[in-house]
Amino acid sequence: MVKVRFAPSPTGYLHIGGLRTALYNYLFAKKNNGKMILRIEDTDRNRFVEGAVEGLIHSLNWAEIFHDEGAFIEKGKIVQKGEKGPYIQSQRLPIYQEYIQKLLDNGWAYYCFCSKERLDHLREEQKKRGENFKYDGHCRNLTKEQVQKKLDAGEEYVIRLKLPENRMVAFDDMVRGHIEVNTQDLDDQVLIKSDGFPTYHFAVVVDDHLMEITHIIRGEEWLPSTPKHVLLYEAFGWETPNFVHLPNILNQDHKKLSKRQGDVAVEDFKKKGYLPEALVNFIALLGWSPKTDQEILSMKELMDSFDLERVNKSGAVFDMNKLNWMNAHYIREASVERITKLAIPYLLESGYISQKDIDNRYEWIEMMVESVKDKIQYLSQIPEQAKLFFKNEISLETEECKEILKGEQVPILLEAFRKKIKEIKTLDPNSAKKVVKEIQKEQGIKGKNLYMPIRIMLTGQMHGPDIMKIIAVLGKERILERLHYIET
Ligand code: GLU
Repeated sequence: MVKVRFAPSPTGYLHIGGLRTALYNYLFAKKNNGKMILRIEDTDRNRFVEGAVEGLIHSLNWAEIFHDEGAFIEKGKIVQKGEKGPYIQSQRLPIYQEYIQKLLDNGWAYYCFCSKERLDHLREEQKKRGENFKYDGHCRNLTKEQVQKKLDAGEEYVIRLKLPENRMVAFDDMVRGHIEVNTQDLDDQVLIKSDGFPTYHFAVVVDDHLMEITHIIRGEEWLPSTPKHVLLYEAFGWETPNFVHLPNILNQDHKKLSKRQGDVAVEDFKKKGYLPEALVNFIALLGWSPKTDQEILSMKELMDSFDLERVNKSGAVFDMNKLNWMNAHYIREASVERITKLAIPYLLESGYISQKDIDNRYEWIEMMVESVKDKIQYLSQIPEQAKLFFKNEISLETEECKEILKGEQVPILLEAFRKKIKEIKTLDPNSAKKVVKEIQKEQGIKGKNLYMPIRIMLTGQMHGPDIMKIIAVLGKERILERLHYIET
């Protein structure tokens, strides 16, 4: 059975690249009737951020990426489910102890007592020669007795991988193809740190094996680490899983997507008012494409068509315009009920509505949201669009607006419109339409000459939401106020 994992480190928010990794794991698992694990890689205690695990899980749930085993949130608490737990690495220390002992025993690992000063010095020397840091093997050949003496004396130590000398390490990546590296170009990687915690490299291999992971799908930044992992599998005598390294996500300038250039946290996109299905659809296409040129794909369609063969090798450029276009599409398609619910926090924050409006005239809020729904790309743009319903003074946006209002028939139109609005009992888009139609019939004013002056009188603009909806949302009182204002 296919078994995959998403293994974030709780060092902050869920990055958009992390969301894509999670999504591809999820899609691949679903497509193959497999299982997905959520494992929390929190062995780097210096980078641990309080609340990050909860944040990660909330973001995944929001995006409707649901794992089968691992860490979950229930009633506000982190719980773990599945047979291969614990799924939080900091709770697996005895397991790592047991497995590092195996490597110490079979000669694939060794104690290293080098001080920080010694290593810093070594690093400096190598840097001067323009080399990357590589441990010089100082402690590689300590005898058992020497090691024991130092341990007895309580000296600090780490445990390192004992790389075979001058050997090719080879593996096949499902995206990148065959990869070979000489161990000369690798380092005697630290496996257990001086605080007793495993490093990422050691924990990831032990856990992926014990959790029976069949496909490791992760970001390209882990590709250089994979040869070390492959050696660890060999050291344990374990079969290697399949490796799948996903291309980087790039900014428009083709550099790796970074916070400096804008939002990268899933939470930021949510706050700005992107719908989860839009973000998921968009990121699914960052590094993968379906066989057809269909661009709008639901989660179900993604699950059905996802395959690893069509994952690209080269980096995928994050095109904000495309995301906005896609989000606008999903907002248009979504029900008014749903968009209203999502829009309310933005309208409350802008002060355009209050809790009283929510309690007393929810339908009116819905009508307003409906009138601007097709005009926005993301939900936080709602107040900007809705502004026209709330300002007290109309200012004519352009010279052209002023010219139009100087039209010969405008005074007649204004009078007729005012009269009808005064008389009407309930204003909704239908009755508004009736009013305008009647004026057309009675006064013989038609088409643009009819609609455009009304729009300008009510909003000061030549463009905007459907005029019947504007009339309905403004309501009698506000319309009469505005007509009066435009007259004076
Ligand atoms: N903990 C690593 C990360 O946060 C996971 C890398 C992997 O999937 O092996 O990216």
